Amino acid sequence: MAERKKVLVLGAGYAGLQTVSKLQKQLSEEEAQITLINKNDYHYESTWLHEASAGTISYEDLLYPVESVLKSHVNFVRAEVTKIDRNAKKVETTNGVFDFDILVVALGFESETFGINGMKEYAFQIENVHTAREISRHIEDKFANYAASKEKNDKDLAILVGGAGFTGVEFLGELTDRVPELSSKYGVDQSKVKITCVEAAPKMLPMFSDELVNHAVSYLEERGVEFKVGTPIVAANEKGFVVKVNDEEQQLEANTVVWAAGVRGSQLMEKSFEGVKRGRIVTNQDLTIDGYDDIFVIGDVSAFIPEGEERPLPTTAQIAMQQGEHTAKNIKHILNGEPTENFKYVDRGTVCSLGSRDGVGVVYGREITGKKAAFMKRVIDTRAVFKIGGMGLAFKKGKF
Ligand code: NAD
Repeated sequence: MAERKKVLVLGAGYAGLQTVSKLQKQLSEEEAQITLINKNDYHYESTWLHEASAGTISYEDLLYPVESVLKSHVNFVRAEVTKIDRNAKKVETTNGVFDFDILVVALGFESETFGINGMKEYAFQIENVHTAREISRHIEDKFANYAASKEKNDKDLAILVGGAGFTGVEFLGELTDRVPELSSKYGVDQSKVKITCVEAAPKMLPMFSDELVNHAVSYLEERGVEFKVGTPIVAANEKGFVVKVNDEEQQLEANTVVWAAGVRGSQLMEKSFEGVKRGRIVTNQDLTIDGYDDIFVIGDVSAFIPEGEERPLPTTAQIAMQQGEHTAKNIKHILNGEPTENFKYVDRGTVCSLGSRDGVGVVYGREITGKKAAFMKRVIDTRAVFKIGGMGLAFKKGKF
C-alpha cells in the first residue's frame, strides 16, 4: 500500500476549520493523515468580536472547542506555529516539528496599527477573544467608576472609536445597544455618554451606496454617535487620540479608546514567504502559491485576485469559508492524481449590522436596511456555524 500523504492545516479560523470539516468527510483514515494545528484549543467567531467587545454578548458565546467538530481520524495539535520551512516541507511549532506533503496556511488576521505612535500601548484593539473581553469589562468598569465616584469624571463616559470600516461601524452599533443597558444598571444619565468615531477617509463604508451609508449614519447619530470623517488619527496617548484637522493637531479625550481601523495577515507570512504585503500573499487561481503546487494559502493571509481583475478580494469570513471548501476539493484532486480546479468566488452579499435590531447591506444584489438587514445578519452568522459544525453546533451557537 502507498504511504499515506500528510495533509497539514495551520489555523482553525473560518478558512482552516472549513477545510478540515470538508476534508474529514471526503478522505478516510487510509487515504491521508490530516493534522490541524491551532494556537488555542477553541475556534472563535471573529465576525462576532464587535458584539463581545461592546458586551452585548459574552466572550464565551464566541467560542467552541475545535475538537468538538473534528472526526476521530483528524489529529488536532494545540501549538503556536513559529516557522514554516516551505522548501524542507516542515513546520516548526511550540509543540514539535511537523512535516507535510500538502500544506494549508490559514493563519488569519491581526490588528494593524500602521506604526501610529502610542496606538498599541494606549488603545484597545478588536482582535481576539481576550481583547474583546478586556474592552467590554473596561467599558463597564468606567460606568461603575463614574457612578461610584463623588467627583464625576465625564471622560469615564466618553468612548473614542478609530475607523469607520465594517468593524468600527458594527462596534458602534453594538455600543448603541449596550449604553442604554449600562446607563440604567448604574443609574447614569445617558445623555452624558459621548461616543465619537474618527475616520480618516471623507466617506465611510465606500463599498456601499449613499443611501445605505446615510441610513447607517442617521441610525447611529440618532443614538448619540458623533462622526468626525476626513479626520486622520496621528497618535494615541494616555488622554485619547491625537487627530489632524486642517493640518493642525487636536487632542480628543476619553477613558475608553478603541482602534478598529485596520487588519493585516499573520506576521508569520513575511517570515515564511517572499512577496508578502501586510501579511497577505497573492495566490494562484487554484489557491496555491507560485512555485509550490502543494502549498495552499487561504483566508485573511491570502490575496486572491480573480482572473481578469486587478485588485484582490477583501478579507471576509464568507471568502475564507468558500476558499476552505475549495481547498478541500483540490486536495482530494491532488491525492487522486487529478488537476486542481480554479477558485471562483460566489458573492452572496454583505451585511453590516447596527446592533441587534438594524443594519445595512446588499444581499444577492439587492439593498436592504433595518430589521430585514438585522435578520439577514443573523442568518449569515448561523449559516457560518452550521457550515462547519452542522445542525448540532447551529442549535448551540446559532442566532435564532
Ligand atoms: P478596514 O480596513 O475595512 O476599515 C478601516 C477603516 O479605518 C477605513 O475606513 C480607514 O479609512 C480607517 N482608517 C485607517 N487609518 C486611519 C487613521 N489613521 N485614522 C482614522 N481612520 C483610519 O478594516 P475593518 O473594518 O476591520 O475590516 C477588515 C476586513 O474585514 C474588510 O475586508 C471588511 O470587509 C471585513 N469585515 C467584514 C464584515 C462584514 O461583512 N460584516 C465585518 C467586519 C469586517
